[in-house]
Amino acid sequence: MIEVNHSKIKETNRKKIISLLLEKNEITKLDISRILDISITTVSTNINELKSEGIAEDVRSLESTGGRKAIAIKLNENCRYSIGVALTPNHIKISLVNLKREIVENIRVRHKNDGIEELILIINNSIDLLIKKYDLNEEKLLGVAFSIPGTVDFKEGIVKYSYLIGIKNFNFKERFEYLKVPIYVDNEANLSAYYEFLNRKDVLENLLYVSITEGLGLGIIINKKIYRGDNNSSGELGHIKIAINGKRCKCGAEGCLEAYTSMNSLTEGYNEISEKVISDINEFEEKYNEKDPIAISVLEQYLKLLSVGISNLIMILDPSSIVIGGDINNLLIDKLEVLKKNIYKDNSFTDENNCSISIADFKESYLLGAAMLPIEEFLEIK
Ligand SMILES: [Zn+2]
Repeated sequence: MIEVNHSKIKETNRKKIISLLLEKNEITKLDISRILDISITTVSTNINELKSEGIAEDVRSLESTGGRKAIAIKLNENCRYSIGVALTPNHIKISLVNLKREIVENIRVRHKNDGIEELILIINNSIDLLIKKYDLNEEKLLGVAFSIPGTVDFKEGIVKYSYLIGIKNFNFKERFEYLKVPIYVDNEANLSAYYEFLNRKDVLENLLYVSITEGLGLGIIINKKIYRGDNNSSGELGHIKIAINGKRCKCGAEGCLEAYTSMNSLTEGYNEISEKVISDINEFEEKYNEKDPIAISVLEQYLKLLSVGISNLIMILDPSSIVIGGDINNLLIDKLEVLKKNIYKDNSFTDENNCSISIADFKESYLLGAAMLPIEEFLEIK
């Protein structure tokens, strides 16, 4: 005898209905029943439940059927919210996102990276402000998720190590327990990978996201899920070694890929050769756009080293999609074809037809990816 798991079916129906409501602006129960092939009774039961939870509401449909105006159902997108918080070396970035994944409010605060307590204070004040302004309670706020440039223990909500922010073994879950909502902490490259994945209709299962910022990270999506590794340390692409006795990396080791391919390595590379010193990536970009020969040759060498790293990734994981994101996209867009050529020139196992390499569609995808975690968890309906 086949045992049918009724609660599982109920969950699936509910999730399907919410997803359809998210997709359509308004829809009648009859259409929900027809599109999802669920009985009208089941649709009604679910809709009543969603209405009582404030998730769905009735609207008068504009189209009339048989002279009568049909009652349509609409998702109340502002019934639930999620807060994403990104810690970066210079800014705290906060986004309030609603159930429809729309950004409702952004907060940006510049900081001097004077230690975690200063950052926590900024975050506390900003979250307080949002809670008051949008009248958020424990039911309305699905969770707060943090994006960190560093290694994290996702399950425990602990940042294990982030040399860019200067924190070690810091428990975010405990620290923000007072909010009485789920707290998530994840690595920024994981979250960027997740956001790109959610928004790319052509990528169905697997995606790798190479994040080039002050560091070099990798987010891995395998079978639609973030792959974090058994010890939460997957994706440390920046610290694979490409040279023996090589350049010193911020992590303390020598010859790490990050020492050659982080955003800062372009500025450093330029200053090693040029008599006139530049101070940041924006100046490097200016020089490159002015066709400065030093900038051109530094970027060329940079692309060779970056392609070694990406080529190694392809050799190990054989993905069908690699997305490159971070803070040097402007420089890379122009050079994508050169990069691809470098990556595939000595690869006799696969080619561009099997694995596409593209530039990220979104800026700050780590922040929005963080905000998606509580929402996706809610839509999964445990
Ligand atoms: Zn390193």
